[in-house]
Amino acid sequence: MPRLSRRKALQAAGLAFAPQIAAAQESSQAQAGRKFRAFVRFGTGASVQELKLRAIQPREVLVKTQASGVCYTIVRGSLSTNNTNRASIPNHSGMGVVEAIGPLVKRVQIGDRVVIPGTPECGQCYECLQGRADWCQFLGTSPAHPIADMADETPVFSDGSLGGLSELMVVPEEYCVPVFTNLPAEQLTMLGDTVGTGLAAGMNLAPIEPGADVVVLGAGPVGLGAVQSARIKGAAQIIVVEPIQYRRELALKVGATVALDPNAEKNLVEKIHDMCKGPTNRRFAGGRAWGEELFAVPRGPDFTIEACGGDSFPPKVEKSPDPTGILPLQQAFEMTRAGGHIITLGFGQQGDVKFPAWIFANRGRTFHSGQQGGMHIMRDVPRYVRLMEKGVIDMKSMVTATYPLDRTREALQAVADRTTVGAVITFS
Ligand SMILES: [Zn+2]
Ligand SMILES: [Zn+2]
Repeated sequence: MPRLSRRKALQAAGLAFAPQIAAAQESSQAQAGRKFRAFVRFGTGASVQELKLRAIQPREVLVKTQASGVCYTIVRGSLSTNNTNRASIPNHSGMGVVEAIGPLVKRVQIGDRVVIPGTPECGQCYECLQGRADWCQFLGTSPAHPIADMADETPVFSDGSLGGLSELMVVPEEYCVPVFTNLPAEQLTMLGDTVGTGLAAGMNLAPIEPGADVVVLGAGPVGLGAVQSARIKGAAQIIVVEPIQYRRELALKVGATVALDPNAEKNLVEKIHDMCKGPTNRRFAGGRAWGEELFAVPRGPDFTIEACGGDSFPPKVEKSPDPTGILPLQQAFEMTRAGGHIITLGFGQQGDVKFPAWIFANRGRTFHSGQQGGMHIMRDVPRYVRLMEKGVIDMKSMVTATYPLDRTREALQAVADRTTVGAVITFS
């Protein structure tokens, strides 16, 4: 009896997906041993290395990277000289084209363009089932295995389940969002991390209403995404607070109505209270009463979005008033009106924030926090793509510098120095 191929055997068994499964298995196995280049952190340094791909797993996707935006949170680890025993490829977002899929992958097909955010969406875990896919419990669980080897057989892992600073990414399908658009790769990749985080914060996490007063603290790529989200939601006033002049200018370009320099303001909280007092203080005419009376509602923004975080490196441009990142959180609380909303996005703060206990019973604010600004990747990335296509989201202005893989260190340094906003590694 002639030997039956696996594909024929599956077909004979009558499995509907048998041919696709067999083809996927063959295509994924054929990729093992493939050579590619990546920025690898190992020992006391980091450099671009040639690697050899390992076989991908049944639920993994092999992506040929087109672009990966550099995140401030990876800069300290990627540029540090601290010894690391595990070789890994940094960065937790990217975009590219699917070149192979494991036999059990359903979400994407070979040839798809995919955005790969730092947040997965499995649809099955506790958080996904509570409607909080941004906190999907699949986060960080995979791949726990090396995806490639160095020339000397050192195994190489990928950070953030995807390792964006690489010509090839091996990604669990839970992280992949297929996008059906011709938009440039360097713009699409920004949806996967920083700018996408700011967009999600205002458009999906915070209930910003048309006509609202919104304050955005920090105009890095996260804050600029938040500014755009407030503009798209129809905020009447969008006040940006940012020490770096070129970032204030960019904020005004993409939707801020005012941009303040916190180093130039003697009393920032009081100034913002004044800017958010509305047209009248006649409380029975819908005005915002203020003063010391017990039930006077303080002036202040309806929504404050904090997008500062702490400094990992001293900036080479204008410094912020507080490198620990605590002051903006404290000010966010103090400036927001009672009953208003505070959305916190910054990372890397050092210290504690103090609130007066007496306000908690009936003069508090509502805090919102979420992984990646509360983005549900499968729901939100396609929405944002459509808004980019319509020109409603200005992503072109968010990409301020592109670098080839060989200049990754330069890109990391520019992000560390804050001399650029959106640094993207692009691949040919
Ligand atoms: Zn990030
Ligand atoms: Zn999940």
